[in-house]
Amino acid sequence: MTTVAFVGLGTMGLPMAANLCKNGFSVIAYNRTASKVEELVPLGAKTAATPSEAVREADVVVTMLSDDNTLLEVFYGAGGIMDGIQAGMTVIDCSTVSPETSKQLYQELQQHEVSFLDAPVTGSKPAAESGTLTFMVGGDEAALEKNRAIFEAMGRKIKYMGPSGAGSYMKLANNTLVGIHTAAMCEGLAIAAKAGIDPESFLEIVSSGAANSRQLELKAPKILDRDFSVQFSLKLMTKDLRLASQLGQQLRTPMPALDTVRNVFQIAEAQGLGELDLSSLLTLYEQWSGVEVRKAEASSQLELELDQTKEQTERRRSIRVPMDFTVMIAVHQWEQEGAFTGQQIKGKLVDISNQGLQIATSFPLSKDMFVVFHFPQEAELPPITGKIIRIEQLEHEYHYGCLMSGVPPYVRIKLEEYIQRKIDEQQEAIR
Ligand code: NAP
Repeated sequence: MTTVAFVGLGTMGLPMAANLCKNGFSVIAYNRTASKVEELVPLGAKTAATPSEAVREADVVVTMLSDDNTLLEVFYGAGGIMDGIQAGMTVIDCSTVSPETSKQLYQELQQHEVSFLDAPVTGSKPAAESGTLTFMVGGDEAALEKNRAIFEAMGRKIKYMGPSGAGSYMKLANNTLVGIHTAAMCEGLAIAAKAGIDPESFLEIVSSGAANSRQLELKAPKILDRDFSVQFSLKLMTKDLRLASQLGQQLRTPMPALDTVRNVFQIAEAQGLGELDLSSLLTLYEQWSGVEVRKAEASSQLELELDQTKEQTERRRSIRVPMDFTVMIAVHQWEQEGAFTGQQIKGKLVDISNQGLQIATSFPLSKDMFVVFHFPQEAELPPITGKIIRIEQLEHEYHYGCLMSGVPPYVRIKLEEYIQRKIDEQQEAIR
């Protein structure tokens, strides 16, 4: 039985490794966060404390890691893959990294008589779970053929692209389209919603014509449900667009659409959307247009729910819960068309309600600026974006009233829970 060391059990790696287990491979798994490895144990996987320990007993190594730096750290760091490799092995890297890194590892491993394939994938978390990923493979074709059964356990389409690095080149070209399609979908949705078109009707029409894309088919249901939970994080998409831009520069190929879209993703990342799904890019467009993209039926359902809980909600909304702690605030401002500046400042959170929050700082800001709040860890809240709508100048500082914007429903629920906890704590202290 072929033994596979699987290194990197993130959104993609965990279901991919699970499919290897289910297809009869003996899997030894390593992940930086050890708890994720435990999820594979019921499927028969063995666990390893370091990458080298996982690799030592294996015939084949599969890596599925975030980016170039992580991959190189896991190869060359203490207890890394290089400490466990043996002649005759094959290493299959499925991460999206630069072609230079792929070629560097190919050459290095060749000296140890180890084959290296760059084999990035398309198809997001659902395809990783159903074992229907597409692999684009660079390296020696013989190494691919020798290990075809491993690929077939995780994917449906396995395509040999050419010599080492060809898989990574292909992946960056592919993700250029994914990024542009995502931004195109969000931009179209934003303008349609602002013009009063029901988003569901918009997506129905677009998906039946030339403007359709696989990305739209994959993300439309999530967007209509306003479910921005991660399938492919916005942070990783931004990384891919950065790599693709670098490739464009190396190959002296102008890529103006890519560069614009990369900037939009970078703004979204700076606003704290990095850990959410890339479809959360829509919330950035919502801030710009001032209109939330919501399906008609959802808004009427929402109105109904709001009516039902109006009294309760109004009561809670009217409560401004006093706070008194320092928050880090990222300030963002358009300078001119296409240009954008940002900086970090310190401020005090004065009070908070369901609608907005008030901060105090000596730093002068102006109306309509966007600010991103980083809450203390105990709040368990992601960064939240607000727009300055009110300014009060006091003796030594300014107080800014900020309206929260683009807060996904589940974050709003967590925020409400946090406010309720604070109300309870304050009432308890009075008693
Ligand atoms: P992910 O959920 O963020 O997982 C990243 C993995 O890398 C985790 O196992 C993480 O360990 C590990 N890692 C990160 N930093 C590390 C470090 N310093 N040392 C050791 N391990 C580290 O990412 P993913 O969505 O699975 O994506 C993995 C790769 O596939 C990326 O290159 C991505 O661009 C590409 N990709 C993703 C998709 C998608 O839809 N998600 C589709 C195609 C390609 P922890 O668990 O400890 O954080």
